[in-house]
Amino acid sequence: MAPNILFLAHVDESGTALPKAAYEALGSALDAAAQLGGTLTIGLIGESVQTAANSVAAGTRILGVSGEDFAQPRYASDAAAVEAICKTVAPDLVIAPGTSRFLRIMAGVAQRLRGRVDTHLTSLDLVDGVLTARRWFYRQRLEGVLQRAARPWFLVMDSGCHQAWAGTTTTAQVEAIAVQLPPEAKRTSFAGIRVPNADAQTIRPDAKLLFVAGAGWSKKQADGKTHLPEAEAVILEFLRHSGASLGGSKSLVDQTGESQAVLRFMTHLNQVGQTGSTPRHPKGLSTCCHGEEPHVVGWRFINERRAVNLDPNCGWARGKADVLYVADAFQVMTKLNSLLTEKARRISG
Ligand SMILES: Cc1cc2nc3c(=O)[nH]c(=O)nc-3n(C[C@H](O)[C@H](O)[C@H](O)COP(=O)(O)OP(=O)(O)OC[C@H]3O[C@@H](n4cnc5c(N)ncnc54)[C@H](O)[C@@H]3O)c2cc1C
Repeated sequence: MAPNILFLAHVDESGTALPKAAYEALGSALDAAAQLGGTLTIGLIGESVQTAANSVAAGTRILGVSGEDFAQPRYASDAAAVEAICKTVAPDLVIAPGTSRFLRIMAGVAQRLRGRVDTHLTSLDLVDGVLTARRWFYRQRLEGVLQRAARPWFLVMDSGCHQAWAGTTTTAQVEAIAVQLPPEAKRTSFAGIRVPNADAQTIRPDAKLLFVAGAGWSKKQADGKTHLPEAEAVILEFLRHSGASLGGSKSLVDQTGESQAVLRFMTHLNQVGQTGSTPRHPKGLSTCCHGEEPHVVGWRFINERRAVNLDPNCGWARGKADVLYVADAFQVMTKLNSLLTEKARRISG
């Protein structure tokens, strides 16, 4: 029987659009609906959902839970909103983006509806006519292929795995679903978002390039001295020019924790690898990092890899990078910065 599919999303901080991950998950949901021959309904949550609704798949039934109580992420109100939408639609499959707001509530809502949930999914497809979801385990070393008989099945998609859906904006008809929150669902109030100052925001998931700095930047160089101020200046200048996201090796970020004088903008959040993150970017450039397996396993989803290392026998030379420049990263990055400055001058002039 053709499944009843519900796609869920929440409005982003602008209040007028959905997060990029939601348009990607919508792409997965539309593909799944086409392959399974199912009907797709869209459920939206936010203070106001009309403008965001106008930007999603035209011609699809859209339900919305809106109002001040649903402006900000909060477990009790978000879970109540998703539960109400699910009870209206009675879906077999629920497809949602893996935003922090949704990852917080989806398992709880699946439990309330006696459903099953799988998160961090990277794809949905049909295998012998059966819906099949995939995700990675053990730091992207093992791929899990999942099929389930239980319904509703909540499928929470990772970002960066599907082309974002894009279509023309129309005026959508949104069916409003009223959700009355009991006082205990409003006990948590939203105080605000604290972020590091703009200069220090070095993690950029949507960047085309991942730039990784390793412990070599903090080591004694050919003249027998360390050059940390120069390292900081060169790396920050490169990030400004390129808009790259900054990653670090464990050795480098651990030095920050041990309160040595290292790169001041580097934190454990930047760490890439087995005990760090597995970011997705089209390209990666590693500098002053040896390319050990526990680090490189975090490069699983970096398509084109280049590295700069003084050591011709480093890990990158052993099949882990497409191109290894055996060179001094201080010199290479300084030269690269001057080329980028020159290019920017030509474009603006
Ligand atoms: C269970 C476990 C989990 C781990 N998880 C992670 C993880 O998540 N992420 C991670 O990164 N590591 C992880 N590690 C540690 C990992 O094995 C490595 O120790 C670490 O990644 C090494 O960091 P590095 O390459 O920056 O430093 P180093 O090994 O010290 O290498 C520094 C490199 O810099 C080069 N260099 C120095 N100066 C220059 C210069 N001027 N120009 C060019 N190159 C230069 C040197 O040739 C050297 O290759 C893990 C280890 C274990 C056991």
